[in-house]
Amino acid sequence: MPTNGQFALMQLSYENLGNTISQNTLSFHHGKHLKAYVDNLNKALPGSAFEGKSLQEIVKTSDGGIFNNAGQVLNHTMYFEQFSNSPRQMSDKFAALVNRDFGSFEALQQEMNQKGATLFGSGWVWLSADKEGKLVITQNTNADNPVRHGLTPLLTFDVWEHAYYLDYQNRRADYLAALWQLIDWTTVESRL
Ligand code: MN
Repeated sequence: MPTNGQFALMQLSYENLGNTISQNTLSFHHGKHLKAYVDNLNKALPGSAFEGKSLQEIVKTSDGGIFNNAGQVLNHTMYFEQFSNSPRQMSDKFAALVNRDFGSFEALQQEMNQKGATLFGSGWVWLSADKEGKLVITQNTNADNPVRHGLTPLLTFDVWEHAYYLDYQNRRADYLAALWQLIDWTTVESRL
């Protein structure tokens, strides 16, 4: 729920992510891109039907400019919060779900990397849980989020060019492959 009717820019828990995502990328991606989505959402909400609603509720039920900005605020908050310089490992319990639904962790990585690399244009690749608790990987374009499709989002890779172009230029696949070493699985699993 926003404070005083306004959403705040989330704070990063790290100053850099080593060589995987540079401080330069972080400063633009968090300090400029995400900040603009937060500011635009806060400008659009007063007097709208979504004033005072939670971010998830807005993302689920809005469209147009409010949806685009709210979706990007939710997507980026989940993206930045799931990374760490000292990431915690996947629990045995979650690893069992991964093995059940993908066969192996390597198969999950391969599917997520492939779907991230082949998403045309701007968007996000997500690992989510469906209503039965089965883990699924989806491509979602622009500001879309799995909550709009009845899924519980767990882990996401931003494949908008602004997420990687300063560090990786056109090498989106290299960026995707590098992200795995930053994932704090305790944070990811807490979303289930
Ligand atoms: Mn982004």
